[in-house]
Amino acid sequence: MVLTAHEVAVLSQAELTQSDIEYFRAKYGLRFIRALRAVEEGRVAKYHFEPSGSTAWIVKGLQREYLVIPDLYCSCRSFYQSVVIAREADTCYHLLAQRIAEIRNSYEAVESTDAKRRSLFVLWRRTD
Ligand SMILES: [Zn+2]
Repeated sequence: MVLTAHEVAVLSQAELTQSDIEYFRAKYGLRFIRALRAVEEGRVAKYHFEPSGSTAWIVKGLQREYLVIPDLYCSCRSFYQSVVIAREADTCYHLLAQRIAEIRNSYEAVESTDAKRRSLFVLWRRTD
């Protein structure tokens, strides 16, 4: 799932109009609404690990936190079932939320360490 240049430009605006939201909802369905809500509620975070300098994006869902690799992967069940197995969707709402958060520069920046990274990834990569 890759947003078009036009979509990125629209999402970069300070305020989304009702017609912008209708456009995205028509294309991405309720996933877009859920993604936008997740961003507005501050449920997207970008971790930065030292000393490696590596990063990781997570989106806090209703049950737990999911690891998101931008435009590629999410550790949630919906991504596995609907995108990978059934191929009935291009994305889950967490993947959309990560892109919206990054474009709108609206996410929590978390400083952490490589020592903590391993245990965080064990939690985030669970697929249950
Ligand atoms: Zn997901």
